[in-house]
Amino acid sequence: MCGIVAYLGPKEAYPILINGLRRLEYRGYDSAGVALLNDSLEVYKTKGKVADLENFVKEVDLRGTIGIAHTRWATHGEPNDVNAHPHFSQSKEIALIHNGIIENYAPLRSELETRGYVFESSTDTEVLTNLIEDIRKNENVSLFEAVRIALNQVIGAYAIVVIDAKDPNSLIAARKGSPLVIGIGNDDYYIASDATPIIEYTRNVVYLDDEEIALISRSSDLKIKTIRNKEKTPYVQELEMNLSALEKGGFEHFMLKEIFEQPQSIRDSMRGRLHADIGSVSLGGIIDYEQKLVNAKRIIIVACGTSWHAGLVGEYLFEDIARIPVEVEYASEFRYRNPVIYESDVVIAISQSGETADTLAAIDLAKQKGATILGICNVVGSSIARATHAGSYTHAGPEIGVASTKAFTAQVTLLTLMALRLAQLKGTITKTRFVHLLNELERIPDKVAKTLQSSKKVIEIAEKYKDVRNFLYLGRGYNFPVALEGALKLKEISYIHAEGYPAAEMKHGPIALIDEEMPVVVIATNKGTYDKVVSNIQEVKARKGQVIAIVTEGNVAVYGMADYVIEIPETEEMFVPLLATVPLQKLAYYIAVMRGCNVDQPRNLAKSVTVE
Ligand code: GLU
Repeated sequence: MCGIVAYLGPKEAYPILINGLRRLEYRGYDSAGVALLNDSLEVYKTKGKVADLENFVKEVDLRGTIGIAHTRWATHGEPNDVNAHPHFSQSKEIALIHNGIIENYAPLRSELETRGYVFESSTDTEVLTNLIEDIRKNENVSLFEAVRIALNQVIGAYAIVVIDAKDPNSLIAARKGSPLVIGIGNDDYYIASDATPIIEYTRNVVYLDDEEIALISRSSDLKIKTIRNKEKTPYVQELEMNLSALEKGGFEHFMLKEIFEQPQSIRDSMRGRLHADIGSVSLGGIIDYEQKLVNAKRIIIVACGTSWHAGLVGEYLFEDIARIPVEVEYASEFRYRNPVIYESDVVIAISQSGETADTLAAIDLAKQKGATILGICNVVGSSIARATHAGSYTHAGPEIGVASTKAFTAQVTLLTLMALRLAQLKGTITKTRFVHLLNELERIPDKVAKTLQSSKKVIEIAEKYKDVRNFLYLGRGYNFPVALEGALKLKEISYIHAEGYPAAEMKHGPIALIDEEMPVVVIATNKGTYDKVVSNIQEVKARKGQVIAIVTEGNVAVYGMADYVIEIPETEEMFVPLLATVPLQKLAYYIAVMRGCNVDQPRNLAKSVTVE
């Protein structure tokens, strides 16, 4: 959600900044802007996309070797030119970019207004900018010190970069609750919301921690202090990301590329962890906490959106094979509900970006109550990875499409490995069954590849239903979360209203919606409840609904009942979500493309939801 890029060094800043903003486009935004310091500090900003900003600055002098740039995802004030960042302070002596929310902006703004400040925008960000200016003037302190004092007065979340019109040699950056990475080149610095704009210039990075402020200067090494004025030694890490992972590699959209990457990303998330040959699963990241899992009376999974759906699959897995009660919670509800949390609970927090604000807050709450917290994240070094006691990375590689695909299947893979390991430790599974499951799990990437082989049928279905207004997705057991995820994908990128339901619940309401216009996707692969799902198909057909059935290869019986049938390879019931999700991702994708939607950056959505 929103992007920050800044540069300080010998090179021209503008091309680096624009390139960086393009790399961050996937995070979701509604306006963009840049500030460059050459002879004077100039700000250019506009509503719309990065391409609109490029058009906007076509005629202007863009020289300067220091600058800051931003893509905004509006929280305070509509997305328009004035509210876009960077924001100048009243005297135009500083400009600032900000990701996050200053929660106490209203009293701060009133206070500043009584002191003569006039605000141009409706943003909380401009308030912080003027607060810094006010402190610098009144307390006669350096800009760094003014930022530090100001941040002590602020409640909320921020990643900021500040530029001083009179100082072409330094930038100030700070964070709390929103990510910020500083790339250290040979003779230059790159600052960004995540590593994607930095990777092509340097692999050495410092992740700022909450409440840390950095002074980035041409003439000295990186200096970091906390907002309580404690010096910190920067911890330089090496990035492992590949530049090719950030390019489309011949695919029309990132989402399609990521759908097709799944055989590999699932394999990557198992690599070094699943050893079917010797019948073992090892998860290095949580090895020290295995006993906590074994002793836990309950697992609570907290997540949002697609990760929450992965959590639901996790619930079925843990209960099924490791015989432990599991609750799956929306992080946003959990944190505000005064939940009962015991020290013996293990909380598993799932987030692709590792920056999801609600999930982070849920982690804090559970930590205060003494629970053990494990994380499942995709982004290495992310806030959740650091806030949890231990965890495992999904290793799916950067996911650029806003609608999550490969991160979901990687999360499910990791939950599967965790559940299998716990079942083994607890002895809730026989050795033969355990080894059989490991062998079958190892075959899943090839089966996903098989599922991906032909898109002909999916394209035909997309063509037929692209103009409908509603879709229903039904599944039972392990396939209930798949139904939810299929519906969410369609909503997110095609803007068609879609709902996922446990198939048996259809009779308790949604059946009223079914008529000859209504496509119903039924996931009918489960062995256990297959006959019941077939009855649900009959019920839909009896009301003239259109049925698209996802079935196990060779299941000819359903051909006679459904309007369209998509086959997926045979596997163990508990692994079906890893296969059945794939055609649903493709269906959403092709429908969205046919409707002319912006698949990789759907309207209103952000990739990493860093505000509550
Ligand atoms: N709260 C700020 C605004 O509305 C920053 C939003 C963002 O993170 O992009 O301008």
